[in-house]
Amino acid sequence: MSPGHEARDGVPTGTPMTAAFTDVGLLREANEDFLAEFERPSGHRLLVVADGMGGHQGGATASRLCVESVGEVFRRSSEAPDLLLREALEAANERVHHAAGADPELSGMGTTAVLLLLTPSDEAWVAHVGDSRAYLLRDGVLRRLTEDHTVVAAMIQRGVLDPAAAESHPRRNELVRCVGFRSETVPEVTRVEVLPGDRFLLCSDGLSGQVPEDEIRAILLREGPSDAASMLVEAANAAGGRDNATVMITAVPGGATTEVDRSAPKLDPQEPASDERTGPRAPGFAEDLSALQSEASKHQRRRRAAAVVAIVAALFAICVLWLTLQ
Ligand code: CA
Repeated sequence: MSPGHEARDGVPTGTPMTAAFTDVGLLREANEDFLAEFERPSGHRLLVVADGMGGHQGGATASRLCVESVGEVFRRSSEAPDLLLREALEAANERVHHAAGADPELSGMGTTAVLLLLTPSDEAWVAHVGDSRAYLLRDGVLRRLTEDHTVVAAMIQRGVLDPAAAESHPRRNELVRCVGFRSETVPEVTRVEVLPGDRFLLCSDGLSGQVPEDEIRAILLREGPSDAASMLVEAANAAGGRDNATVMITAVPGGATTEVDRSAPKLDPQEPASDERTGPRAPGFAEDLSALQSEASKHQRRRRAAAVVAIVAALFAICVLWLTLQ
C-alpha cells in the first residue's frame, strides 16, 4: 500500500461511514491537498477536499485555511444547505485572499474546493470551485456531479473543443475559478437526491487527472470505502503519481451498489449532473473563451476549406474517369 494518511495534522478524521486517503504522489515534495469531515449534533455531515496551489508553502496553506474556514461556517450556520455552502466558500475565499495579501511568501496562493453536505433528511448538496470533483456511484453507474471550472471544460461545453482532445490540451490545468486568488469567487451548488446504496466520491485532480473514470468505477464497485480509498490513490501512483492525490468516499447504507453486474455500462452519458445547478460564471470567463472560440472557429474554417478542395478534386477525378471511358 502506498504511504498515506486519513487527514493532515489537526484535521478531524471521518466517521465509520466515510473513508479518506491522501498521498503526496511520486514526484511532488509536499502534499498541498487537504481534507476533512465535519459533523453537527443535528446529524448534518460535511466532507471537504481542497487542492492548493501557489508555491510550496502557499498551496498547502491555502487548502488548509479553506477547509478550516468552511468547517467554522458549517458548525455555526443555521442557513439552508445551498446558502450555507455558498457562505462557507465565500468566507473561505475571503480568508485565503486576505492571508495571501498579508504575507509576501503566500502571495498568489489559491485552492480548489469540493464540498459534500449530507442532511439527516437524506439530501445531498455538492458545492465546488475549481477542478476537484464529486462523483456518485449508483446502480453500477459512475456519474460526475461537478463540472470542472477550467478553460478546457468551458471550451468543451461551448462545443469548440472535442472532449478527446482535452486530455492533451496545453490549457487543461488552467482554472477559471478558484478560492482565494481573487477578492471574490462564485461557488457552484447542486442538490442531489440520495438513495440507499449510493456511494459518493470527492477527489482532487491527482486522481481524476490520472486514473480513467472506468477504473475509478471498477474500484468503487469492487471494494468497500476504506479499501477503495487507498486503492484509488495507489492507482494514481501507478499511473505516474505526478500530483498529490486525495479521495474521500462516503457510503449511504442499504441498497446493492456492490452487487450489481460489474460488466454493466461504464459511465452515465448525461454527465455532468444538472439537478439544480446554479451560479453565474466568474468574471473574465467570457473574454477568455471568446479568444479561444475565435481560434477554434479559424481551425474549423480551415478544415471546411480543406473538405471543399477534397470534394472538388474527387468530382474532377470522376469527370476525367467518365470522359476516359466514353
Ligand atoms: Ca492537484
